[in-house]
Amino acid sequence: MKRGTPALDRFRLLAAVLVVAIHTSPLSTYTALGDFYLTRVLGRVAVPFFLMVSGYFLAKGNWQKTWTFWKKTALLYGVCILLYLPLNIYAGQLDGDFPRRLVTDGTFYHLWYFPGLLLGLPIARFLGRWGLRIALPAAGLLYLIGLGGDSYYGLVAQIPALKTGYDLIFQVFSYTRNGLFYVPLFLLLGAAGRTCSRRASLWGLMFSLGAMSGEGLWLHSLQVQRHDSMYLTLPLVMLFLFSLLLGANRGEARTARRLSALAYVLHPWCIVLVRFGAEVVGLEALLVKNSLGHFAAVLLLTALVSAVLLVLRPMPIPAKVRAWREVDLEALTHNAAVLQKALSPGQKLMAVVKADAYGHGAVRVCRRLQKSGVRAFAVACLSEGVALRKVGVRGTILILGYTPPEAAPLLRRWHLTQTVADAAHGLELNKQGQRIQVHLALDTGMHRLGISAKNRDEIAAMYRLPNLKIKGVFSHLCVSDSLTERDERYTQQQTELFFDTVSWMRQHGFAPGAIHLQASYGIWNLMPQSCAYARAGIALYGVRSDGAPVRRNLDLRPVLSLRARVASVRRLHPDEGAGYGLAFHADRETWLAVVTIGYGDGLPRELSQRGGEVLIRGRRCPMVGRMCMDQLLVDVTELDAVSPGDVVTLIGRDGGQEIRAEETAERCGTITNELLSRLGSRISIK
Ligand SMILES: *Cc1c(COP(=O)(O)O)cnc(C)c1O
Repeated sequence: MKRGTPALDRFRLLAAVLVVAIHTSPLSTYTALGDFYLTRVLGRVAVPFFLMVSGYFLAKGNWQKTWTFWKKTALLYGVCILLYLPLNIYAGQLDGDFPRRLVTDGTFYHLWYFPGLLLGLPIARFLGRWGLRIALPAAGLLYLIGLGGDSYYGLVAQIPALKTGYDLIFQVFSYTRNGLFYVPLFLLLGAAGRTCSRRASLWGLMFSLGAMSGEGLWLHSLQVQRHDSMYLTLPLVMLFLFSLLLGANRGEARTARRLSALAYVLHPWCIVLVRFGAEVVGLEALLVKNSLGHFAAVLLLTALVSAVLLVLRPMPIPAKVRAWREVDLEALTHNAAVLQKALSPGQKLMAVVKADAYGHGAVRVCRRLQKSGVRAFAVACLSEGVALRKVGVRGTILILGYTPPEAAPLLRRWHLTQTVADAAHGLELNKQGQRIQVHLALDTGMHRLGISAKNRDEIAAMYRLPNLKIKGVFSHLCVSDSLTERDERYTQQQTELFFDTVSWMRQHGFAPGAIHLQASYGIWNLMPQSCAYARAGIALYGVRSDGAPVRRNLDLRPVLSLRARVASVRRLHPDEGAGYGLAFHADRETWLAVVTIGYGDGLPRELSQRGGEVLIRGRRCPMVGRMCMDQLLVDVTELDAVSPGDVVTLIGRDGGQEIRAEETAERCGTITNELLSRLGSRISIK
């Protein structure tokens, strides 16, 4: 479980209530000063708190999510702009000043927070690069400048030079409480996290809160405040408050977190609705004129609307409920780098991502590889290629298999490169009248796809077809995984035939473009080849096809782990049986765990009766009986403890133990390529 911070989450709710109070002035009917103190002094902790929470979590993730968070904020701001557009129109705010407010003040009064964050975030990040020791004072300086345009304006403006400066600022921003002067400091204070002990925080909070109260009331009495959201003592209050909350118990309160965000965004609409509703039903005296009544009505409506939206929101199914694959993208990046290094100079990796990247999830695999510089991908068919383009995968995407010639317009539309499966296929593709990119497959002895490498006439004929842009030529090796003398000789012959054909093409003016020959075993077992690409599939995922040895030892790491859960634990008396056909028979008292995965998820059914094992609590346990479609049985008699919900590892590590995909594949007389690519869509990917 990720460790959360329920105190932070719960305080968010209080902060949201304070924000509603700021915008409804609950005590104004009874005491103007009291209302000032509640909403303009105490209430001023709310927004800095929200900022600090953002800063805290971003910094905890090493600021790696900054850009994602920025984009999310921009998106949310966009939604809010639309949400409040009707009120803008109603209030006649769609004037010439609207674009400026869009980028500086926000399009509705409470929305200043979003442009503030969008500007303050890059500034905080920029300052943060020098470490908090420098960033915090720098942001503090910005805050001081902002202070002069906020609570202290009346004092500062007595100096003409300063007044001119601030007037310039106010031509751009309506307030100095903005992304430049206000936001960076609180983001960075949040990043500082817990700065003092519980005791110190408590005392510090009491004293600083007292000081801020004095400061606020004093400035109020002087009548010098242009705006009243920034105080000299506010950062201090926040520092202690945040430390105190962070020091509280651990856990998580997601509902509070979501509710507070909704309340922040929605409450101005609720204010409008309360005013409107009160007028309709004639309760203005109670619900509008009486400040407390007004506050209560707005708070109630906001809470109600937020709660309803929360209940109605789509609830995604979490990934680790029943059976899931964990895809280690760091291992994937590592493998790509190791393979790239193993190639000859100038040769590039072509990542083979067919069959949903051998069961690893092609989209996330391609996105990650793209980030680490891979620019060529290979898929099996048209639909796989289109799916990748749709999620923004760039670079070459080569379809290794057959595509019906009529689909040529789609190949062109999605910039996919098609393999010419044989001469007839090439002719038909050409006939469609669409200029498409192709790679010629040469058959050098596998006798699957490709023009026979010896048939030079057919090769030459392809170059006369005006609609085929031949961008590459390749062949596939069929016994390169074997180290027997006979197979190595065959591979040698295939390789020689391939390179002979390519040189013949070059000599006769048939530009071969990018040439490629090796798949994973071509990298493991052949000398580096002078090709443009190597098409790595299984090696990229960090496993071999089986346990057989290879010539080159590459430091590859398995990318996929397969896990499920214990559904139930039960005791069998001696002589009882279990499962279909009662195939398991207990000859002693036996404890069985029922595990939430079966052959319907792509596991080979025979695995459970061929010595298949799983890891539970770091120990190997044998599968027993016949595997079911959705479940399998494991003998856990040897374990000290096991309970429903326990994680079961079918492939991967748990504690010091590891079950490798090669081991499982070999038990079932197959290869990891099959085992992994058959994992069913019912197993979520995490
Ligand atoms: C599947 C495939 C590959 C990748 O094979 P691996 O052994 O998984 O690396 C390469 N080339 C072609 C033509 C393929 O069909």
